[in-house]
Amino acid sequence: MGRNLISDQGFDVMMGSKLVVIGGGPAGCSFAAKAAKGAAVTILEEHARTGRPVQCTGLVSPRVVEMIRAKESVLCTIRGARFHFPAGTIVDFRSADTKALVVDRQAFDQRCAEIASDAGAKLLMNCRMTKTVTRPESVEVRYLREGKSEKCLAALVIGADGYKSRVSEMAELPPPRERIKGLQVDLDIEDRSDVLDVYVGSKVAPGFFAWRIPCGDFVRVGVCVSQGNGPPSQYLRSLLKRLDLEDEKILERISGVIPIGFPLRTYADRTMLVGDAAGQAKPLSGGGLYTGMTAARIAAEVALAAMEEGDLSANRLSEYQRKWKEEIGRELDRGYLIRRAYLRLSDRRLEALGRTLDRPEVKEVLSTGDIDFPSLLAPQIIKAAPKLLRFAPQVLRSMFSRTSMGRL
Ligand SMILES: Cc1cc2nc3c(=O)[nH]c(=O)nc-3n(C[C@H](O)[C@H](O)[C@H](O)COP(=O)(O)OP(=O)(O)OC[C@H]3O[C@@H](n4cnc5c(N)ncnc54)[C@H](O)[C@@H]3O)c2cc1C
Repeated sequence: MGRNLISDQGFDVMMGSKLVVIGGGPAGCSFAAKAAKGAAVTILEEHARTGRPVQCTGLVSPRVVEMIRAKESVLCTIRGARFHFPAGTIVDFRSADTKALVVDRQAFDQRCAEIASDAGAKLLMNCRMTKTVTRPESVEVRYLREGKSEKCLAALVIGADGYKSRVSEMAELPPPRERIKGLQVDLDIEDRSDVLDVYVGSKVAPGFFAWRIPCGDFVRVGVCVSQGNGPPSQYLRSLLKRLDLEDEKILERISGVIPIGFPLRTYADRTMLVGDAAGQAKPLSGGGLYTGMTAARIAAEVALAAMEEGDLSANRLSEYQRKWKEEIGRELDRGYLIRRAYLRLSDRRLEALGRTLDRPEVKEVLSTGDIDFPSLLAPQIIKAAPKLLRFAPQVLRSMFSRTSMGRL
């Protein structure tokens, strides 16, 4: 498709929106909040209520809360962590600074929807997009509204529809590389401490990790496992047993999938993907809020500029991918490489890695970390414990070796 001239003719009279966002999660609402300042935006969300069902732990950096001024959604503050290795080594650190906040994801999502609607975006609940048909002059969006078939025309469609993205499928874009399955419970135990626990190893959480997070009035325990390891439920049961929490009252149980490893392309003619639909979660932690909302802001800037120019071709929208990669691509790429190296470690090697990390100089570095950019710590950690390079394959060694550290 070449240059597409946009005219107002043909756009849906009822919605009057040129930009149609599929998915009213944090990425979709962040896009809408920014784009609605310059264009008519409608969000189609399949659920009846914003932020339900919850599929998240809610651990974010303070900057994420700041991005949407969502202080009211904060449940507690985290200042440190203990990493539990397979044979019992524990590497812990604590900082005087806030390292992370735990948010109530429903309240957080409601705040995202509020800022989108304050900016002028329309949020249509109970609307499930079923099909998009991209034509030279517009995109036809078909959806079920409370079970009834409806359609509208859009100049541009934003796929903010999460890991199962139908928008991506319709645009024939490749899916993210991996899917991590997660399961989590909130237990009726008061814990007002500010240090979380992370557990690694093939018996605890093959291919990813498990966690225990103090949330003030309750404790959040969860497990994520990579594909091919069966359901996370068996691992969560064992972890609860190991922590002697199996008989505690469960307040809430959530499950979900995290797509890891962004695909080669996150745009097509008249289409852009943001957030989980674009596989933008961080490969080391599975956190997708900061990255997805950052990419959504960039997508909105590109959308408004491209509409102004009257060119919504894939070629024009490729600027979106170039720009989001400039801002978060290096972290996602490096995180994915470190993750590949992590997947190759047996429990024995993982334990040896833990012992190598268990030194004051490393803990000092860990306490300075930023959860939105975890891979940035790698060079300093390697400097503090050069033996770590033994655990990394060649590609990581050359990336993080002392000689190349100056360039990082
Ligand atoms: C167990 C678990 C723990 C996690 N913990 C954290 C964490 O601690 N910190 C963090 O930053 N991230 C975490 N994440 C990741 C985070 O939840 C996601 O990255 C984030 O929700 C992505 O936001 P999004 O807006 O892209 O997608 P979503 O939040 O998935 O929103 C997509 C929306 O689109 C809607 N939708 C889908 N298809 C359609 C359709 N056809 N029509 C209309 N609507 C549709 C969905 O109903 C949904 O409301 C976790 C994920 C899981 C599974």
